[in-house]
Amino acid sequence: MTAQRQRRIKPSYCEMSRKTIKILLVDDDEDDYIMTRDLLSEIDGTTYDLQWTTNFDGAVTLIEQREHDVYLFDYRLGERTGLELLRAAIEKGCRAPIIILTGQGDKELDMLAMRSGAADYLVKGQINAPLIERSIRYAIERKRSEEDIYRMAYYDVLTSLPNRLLFRDRLSQAMGLAERHDRKVAVLFIDLDNFKRINDTFGHHMGDQLLKNIAERLKNCMRKCDSLSRQHPDSAVDTVARLGGDEFTILLSEIGHGEDAAKVAQRIIETLAQQFTLNAYEIFISASIGIAIYPHDGNDIDTLLKNADAAMYHAKSEGKNNYQYYRQSMNASAFERLTIENKLRKAVDRNEFVLHYQPQIEVRTGKIVGLEALIRWQQDDKLIEPAEFIPIAEETCLIIPMSEWVLHTAATQIKAWQAAGFHNIPVSVNISSQQFQHKKFIGSLHGVIKDTGIRSRDMILEITESTIMRNTDIVFHTLYELSKIGLRLSIDDFGTGYSSLSYLKRFPLHAIKIDRSFIKEISTSPDDAAISKAIISMAHSLKIRVVAEGVETKHQLAFLSEQGCDEAQGFLFSRPLPAEDIEKLLAMDKNTEGSIFPILHRGYGIVQRR
Ligand code: C2E
Ligand code: MG
Ligand code: MG
Repeated sequence: MTAQRQRRIKPSYCEMSRKTIKILLVDDDEDDYIMTRDLLSEIDGTTYDLQWTTNFDGAVTLIEQREHDVYLFDYRLGERTGLELLRAAIEKGCRAPIIILTGQGDKELDMLAMRSGAADYLVKGQINAPLIERSIRYAIERKRSEEDIYRMAYYDVLTSLPNRLLFRDRLSQAMGLAERHDRKVAVLFIDLDNFKRINDTFGHHMGDQLLKNIAERLKNCMRKCDSLSRQHPDSAVDTVARLGGDEFTILLSEIGHGEDAAKVAQRIIETLAQQFTLNAYEIFISASIGIAIYPHDGNDIDTLLKNADAAMYHAKSEGKNNYQYYRQSMNASAFERLTIENKLRKAVDRNEFVLHYQPQIEVRTGKIVGLEALIRWQQDDKLIEPAEFIPIAEETCLIIPMSEWVLHTAATQIKAWQAAGFHNIPVSVNISSQQFQHKKFIGSLHGVIKDTGIRSRDMILEITESTIMRNTDIVFHTLYELSKIGLRLSIDDFGTGYSSLSYLKRFPLHAIKIDRSFIKEISTSPDDAAISKAIISMAHSLKIRVVAEGVETKHQLAFLSEQGCDEAQGFLFSRPLPAEDIEKLLAMDKNTEGSIFPILHRGYGIVQRR
């Protein structure tokens, strides 16, 4: 060990001896406690604060609080031993030194204690004040130097960030966990653009200062992105490391989609784009970032780093100050997804959505008895279907403001139609699972009803089977609150989940909607026909209405009619239409005695037969 190193260690003990050294003694013999206390009080120059406990579990709890500088464990602790406690302490991450005390000298035990990680081993009969003082002092000093060595081995001296070795270690840990839990890990390789110029222009000292500042920004950037990776006990640690020179790496230990890494990369680019002020100079710097995702882009540390590095070079060749995925295809899909997400964010602010409505027809009479509101995104002259943006909206929580808009717009439209003379046509609104479980959901429903003045029977909420099957307290509570408001509930896409009708009967249900996938094959697949038939008859026995979704053919309608299905909805009658077109349909429906949909009167005589 070098002289410089020893100089660093010595003051640390001196510093400690000036303050109070906190000790926890775990010993089931009070005499031993008194002896230790008295010995410590004999030592000049250092104050010891001795805490004593006899209890093994109590000791573990105290150790977890990490308030002590040194631990003294008696070897005999009733049924247990001091070595067991030592192992428990180390397992709990205890980094303070532990000294084992025993009644008699035993070489084997001594060796065992030291091998298990004890700092020292003292025989009670031989302890005196100088011996215990020396043992404690050495134990603290040794721990300090171990910590120093650890820091030097695993951390970068300039920036205090983890170095290559620790990064590899964390990456390997993250890969192990990801494999077990079927998750993804991202490695970002960051290289500063034209950093050499900074060194050449301002000198190495300024270069070093800048690297330190950059390290700080990178760390902050990760903190802001915390929400991307939910840290739970089975998580590895997200890490920013400096590999050397102007190269940094980032480990995102647990990402949902490969695209999540792009968000962090983008944030880094934006963070670095803000000027640095050093010694009154304004310095601008940018970075090129390469991204590799485990397991797609490599199954081992070296391959992942190599591929992230290759992607970084690609970013350089693309003009620097950008990020690139290792695989070209990922660039495209991540870009597309991010573009949709960004546009969606603006769309919510700019009100770029419209609601279309699809009529729901009473099978027996052919009359319009309801409408389903379906959202569309009006992008320039394109209408985008919900399948393309609802999943992204759900992942990014944009679904919440979007759903608020849907509720308000539908309710306002209901009022407008009522003013035009269509009073009893309830509108069904689709509620996403996230929205349903959102703490403000009931409040916003109250708000909508109050603001627009609709009656609760004017709106029906459609939730999917899987939402209700989550079965959480929130779901139950929300259902209860809904029944208080008097809003009716339909189960959408019924048959695709695993619920039983009798289970669903516990909730105040208005209707179930048989999923389109069953209706599609109803006239050709005996299985689908049998399922639909069973759903209809069971629902009826529970006094729940049945709506068939996606009715496209006369055959399907004939079958449904025969089975006594209550309502049908589908292209056979009408596609979802803008509100003005619906108003025309409603007017026709009102002024026509029978059905306005000729299919109900012709060909199959369905209406007449029932
Ligand atoms: P959904 O609630 O099951 O809506 C029925 C879907 O089936 C609609 O698709 C409708 O256009 C389509 N459809 C109706 N009749 C037929 C037919 O005869 N044949 C075929 N092939 N399709 C038919 P759309 O409008 O694309 O909506 C898809 C899904 O997006 C909806 O399924 C619903 O889950 C969701 N969605 C729509 N609007 C909203 C909304 O405002 N909020 C939420 N959270 N989700 C919505
Ligand atoms: Mg629906
Ligand atoms: Mg549906």
